Amino acid sequence: MASPDVIVVGGGVMGTSAALAVARRGHRVTLLEQFAIGHDRGSSHGASRILRYAYFEGPNYARMVQQVAPMWRAIESDTDSELMHRCGGVDIGPRSGPLVTGALQACQELQLEHELLSGTDIESRWPFANLGELAGVYQPDACILAADQCVATLAELAGRSGVDIWQNAKVTSIAFSDHGVSVSLDDDTIHADRIIVTAGPWTHQLLTELNLPLSVIRKAVLYFDVHRPGAFDIRRFPIYIVDKHDAYYYGFGTFGHPGVKVGDHLGRDVVDPDHVERSMRRDDESHVRRFVRAHLPDADGEVLRFETCLYTMTPDEDFIIDHHPASERAVIAGGFSGHGFKFGPLIGEMLADLAIDGSTDHDLSRFRLDRFA
Ligand SMILES: Cc1cc2nc3c(=O)[nH]c(=O)nc-3n(C[C@H](O)[C@H](O)[C@H](O)COP(=O)(O)OP(=O)(O)OC[C@H]3O[C@@H](n4cnc5c(N)ncnc54)[C@H](O)[C@@H]3O)c2cc1C
Repeated sequence: MASPDVIVVGGGVMGTSAALAVARRGHRVTLLEQFAIGHDRGSSHGASRILRYAYFEGPNYARMVQQVAPMWRAIESDTDSELMHRCGGVDIGPRSGPLVTGALQACQELQLEHELLSGTDIESRWPFANLGELAGVYQPDACILAADQCVATLAELAGRSGVDIWQNAKVTSIAFSDHGVSVSLDDDTIHADRIIVTAGPWTHQLLTELNLPLSVIRKAVLYFDVHRPGAFDIRRFPIYIVDKHDAYYYGFGTFGHPGVKVGDHLGRDVVDPDHVERSMRRDDESHVRRFVRAHLPDADGEVLRFETCLYTMTPDEDFIIDHHPASERAVIAGGFSGHGFKFGPLIGEMLADLAIDGSTDHDLSRFRLDRFA
């Protein structure tokens, strides 16, 4: 078998996107995934992810959302599939807090259609309660991305574009030389010109020499049974994020599974990605239940479904997208800090630029490795 031009390590949303982008430029690509594509031990699995335009984290991210949305649309039309489900989104919190002011700023700067709502306005439209003095920014274009279907579709397109996908192929080490890269698996070694590492929660294990400041966090997602199903139909009920000071809670109407999904950005439950407690612990439910009881009382039913998923956090919650400091032949993307999924196809193009051309026109200044030096 001829050596590939580019090896991609990791078959989550970032790896499948990068492999597709490189193969579409006419290069031979081998994608190595330690489990099966679509497995549930990393970060990209599950029925849904949020794609929001009113990006409170900063205008560069908001512009990236505007770039990536048409890319998802193109993938839909290439595969005759429906991956983006527009249902609108409302960001709720103190009027002067970071969520509401950031979302409002993104809407104003990018001239997005939006409404600034009081807590009472929100309660009169949707089944929220007890919002008191909180305010909200409603932006009608926010979408649910059908996450599992997105990854399966990217892998299918990658395969169609000639990517050789190896599943159950765990990379044990990577070595660079002036002539190329060598990648060791348990029982094989593969050589290539270049490599892209998108190993999600395993990134710092695979690249120990870089001592990356990444922490892997176990996140719990719960689906609650609802008392008034019609009120949580995604044609009526928006994606929401609520800034409760101690945590951000988020969720969707009914999509993918019975009940409504609720998660939180609370806590720093640092784990080893190879040893994660997958069953529901008492504290996984208690604080989310407290939020639901207070603010979404019609969703205060039994827990119908429980999932765990991993965040890979950087200290500043900005991503890492850069060359390996020891070799221009290696490109790294990781530390997506719980908000990377929506950007998959755009980051795939950025990684292809870095791996093939050595540079990119995209502004990666916020994502450079040397910010940790
Ligand atoms: C609960 C939860 C909710 C989220 N909500 C949102 C949201 O609403 N919107 C949003 O945009 N983002 C969201 N995110 C974040 C988003 O899902 C992640 O940023 C994104 O999925 C990261 O993708 P990845 O490809 O980097 O990682 P992964 O999906 O983990 O992929 C990495 C892959 O590399 C493989 N791998 C690792 N090491 C090796 C090795 N040595 N050899 C071979 N293969 C290897 C792994 O098995 C894995 O499949 C959420 C995340 C979680 C956990």
